[in-house]
Amino acid sequence: MKTSQQRSMASIGAILIFCAAAFWSSIGSDTRSRATENNRQNGAGAAAPGGPQSDLLLVFAGDIMLADGPGKAMAKGVDPFAEFAEIFKGADCNIGNLECVIATGGSPIKKPWVFRADPKVLPVLTRHINVVSLANNHTGDFGHSAFLEQLDLLEKQKLPYFGGGRNCAHARTPHILEIKGVRIALLGYNEFKPRIFEAGPNWPGTAWSVDEQVVADIQAARTISKADLVIPFLHWGSEYDPATDRQKQFARLMIDSGADIVVGGHPHVTQATEYYKGKLIVHSIGNFVFDGFEEGPGRIGWLLRLRLNKQGLVAWDTVVAHMDGEGIPHLMQETPSPSGTAANETVDDRRALVDSPLTSFRK
Ligand SMILES: [Zn+2]
Repeated sequence: MKTSQQRSMASIGAILIFCAAAFWSSIGSDTRSRATENNRQNGAGAAAPGGPQSDLLLVFAGDIMLADGPGKAMAKGVDPFAEFAEIFKGADCNIGNLECVIATGGSPIKKPWVFRADPKVLPVLTRHINVVSLANNHTGDFGHSAFLEQLDLLEKQKLPYFGGGRNCAHARTPHILEIKGVRIALLGYNEFKPRIFEAGPNWPGTAWSVDEQVVADIQAARTISKADLVIPFLHWGSEYDPATDRQKQFARLMIDSGADIVVGGHPHVTQATEYYKGKLIVHSIGNFVFDGFEEGPGRIGWLLRLRLNKQGLVAWDTVVAHMDGEGIPHLMQETPSPSGTAANETVDDRRALVDSPLTSFRK
């Protein structure tokens, strides 16, 4: 995968003025998009040269917390993603929520849980995950200096990110995937406290899910960034609870505004999936690499696999992960979990990888 940062400092300065108002449509060009071209020549990602466009496969992983238990395991040489390596390898792009700051500096903020991972985790993370969302309630745990150190580290590692940035305009900038001729805009927003992690006009942080700004960003992703598909990745909801009315209403607003699929996380459990106007909403995919949870729903997460073409979703499924006491996920291939196809707006319980609608999607 090749990555190119196409923003110029001039365009950042220009959009800062309008940051709070979110009027992207009046102020910029495609230069603000963070673009990734996927030129993978092996596996499912390889495009047939000169041939017709084929479907592509995206994978979303939930909360990836690489401090504490997983951090200690990784320091001993454990690759927490190992059991899912083949699934990641078979996708065109793997996207995860980085639920910690990766840095050496900074000071812990006064809050119940703070997570800072050693930069040595980066090569292992990058081996499997191609893009990370920073829009969550932990990337700010060690303050602005650690957050900025993390941005530098991610850029040095060539691991693109979205949902966070050097200022609010940067944080709200979509990451554009270009795969098999399809442009996909990834947007990330957090709405779980503390809001002090929110980026401002001239300070770093995460993108906060202000409704009208999210709506403007989705529209701008289509009109300015020329995205064929727009996928917002939300960090939201009430911990350990079913999807809230706020999630349901906001997901529908995003789809009414032009989002093709809405993916959520944070509540430490998986939540309902539903269709709205033919568009898929997955309210929470749960944890993926995370320790500190007792045996039960907090140790179960889903990899969400989306088979897409330029028109949108073709088919999807979820792969069940069960986290052990160290927060390392293990593949639960025989456990049924939600899946479906765009042609049929019902959600089925099937065994992913075995009898899912994506089983035939092999190259
Ligand atoms: Zn969270």
